[in-house]
Amino acid sequence: MNGRIQAPGEPDTSRAWFARAQASLAGGISSSSRLTSAGPRSYPLYMASGSGARIRDVDGNEYVDYLISYGSAILGHAHPQLTEALTAVLRTGTMFGTCNTVEVELAELIREMVPCADLIRFANSGSEAVQGAVRAARGFTGHSKILKFEGHYHGWSDTLAVSNRPDASQAGPYAAPRSVPHSPGIPDGVVGDVVVCPWNDPAALREILDAHRGELAAVICEPIVANNACTMPEPGYLDLLREECSARGIMLIFDEVCTGFRTGPGGAQTLFGVVPDLAVFSKALGGGLPIAAFAGQRHVMEPLAQGHVKHGGTYNASPLCATSALVTLRSLNQPDVTKRIDESGRRLMETIRRAAHDRRIPCAVQGVGAMFQAVFTADGTPTRQYRDLLGVDRARSDAFRHELLKRGVHVNAYGMACWFVAAAVTDDDLDATCEALGEAFSVL
Ligand code: PMP
Repeated sequence: MNGRIQAPGEPDTSRAWFARAQASLAGGISSSSRLTSAGPRSYPLYMASGSGARIRDVDGNEYVDYLISYGSAILGHAHPQLTEALTAVLRTGTMFGTCNTVEVELAELIREMVPCADLIRFANSGSEAVQGAVRAARGFTGHSKILKFEGHYHGWSDTLAVSNRPDASQAGPYAAPRSVPHSPGIPDGVVGDVVVCPWNDPAALREILDAHRGELAAVICEPIVANNACTMPEPGYLDLLREECSARGIMLIFDEVCTGFRTGPGGAQTLFGVVPDLAVFSKALGGGLPIAAFAGQRHVMEPLAQGHVKHGGTYNASPLCATSALVTLRSLNQPDVTKRIDESGRRLMETIRRAAHDRRIPCAVQGVGAMFQAVFTADGTPTRQYRDLLGVDRARSDAFRHELLKRGVHVNAYGMACWFVAAAVTDDDLDATCEALGEAFSVL
């Protein structure tokens, strides 16, 4: 029944598993984005194990890992302290579907770390927690429309899967973009509730806000646009969002699924000093287990607390996932841990900058140490918004990634995504990565 599968460590084992997977998994994969982990091959790599910042595939190759499960395994793979804590939970029961004490300790710690977090609710994935925050904002304001920014990603569910990556022919006029559903199967009614705006453009923002006066429940953004190659907010832009939302009675939601607990203990809201009404967390929060949260200021969370606005979930804050999050956040709450992550990333960013400069290859290295991307824009200037990314040299960015993979460096295969740095990355891992970067640039 099963095709022959090579012993782990033989070349082409990933290829054989992918061929076998076609018969049982739709498209051979469990998430649409996994196919893109194929790198230079026509099949994705199957990872077998990981420890620290290193992972090993079933073909017998080892990599320094800068995907780290899309930023989730922030302490590193098979982190000893986490493994020990989770093993203890496995012995005492992973889920009861009831209240548990760990969720309380976890919520208390998040309150301490995150400025906007007066009250918190847990969920299981970023998409789900985004839905929770949007529900809270709609329930509080009584409005249904949500303004999102072109190119920002807020999960796969219908709610906001609009204009994630529209191509130029669909995207509509620059200053009044069309709302483009990300996939067939998203109802027109849902798409019609999503207003799309270009990022980093105050005049366009004000015009669109004016055009939807009295209709908007929330403005949502990725404060650092992880899904647009770590495009940064221009100085003052997040403050402007805060001012406009406050003046108009619109809830400001920061989607901190990528930035949360990664860019520092208080995430992007601390880094930029702008406090949203609501924020969404996942990835680094769980340290590699599926848990997410939405958190907000008391006024907007109160209808939820009173039970008027509903939110549920069988798996929410299970002892297993809450324990993983508690151990992870206790570690990330030590400033030296996130400082180490930031410094490691900055060393890599600087190495890329120097290599690009030496080879006279136009390249913007953007983001912060904990999450960044190298973008091959025509003149090496950083991207300001999604449409700038439509003009980058994709072939070069693919070649860059393929050369790195050959040299044992594993990064997100999608050039508009970014590198995530683990706390476990060692000086040896960084040395090896810098050497691979130098070699990769020499053949680009
Ligand atoms: N928001 C952002 C900013 C994300 O990057 C992602 C996932 N990449 C999500 C939401 C959705 O999270 P999940 O995949 O856990 O549903």
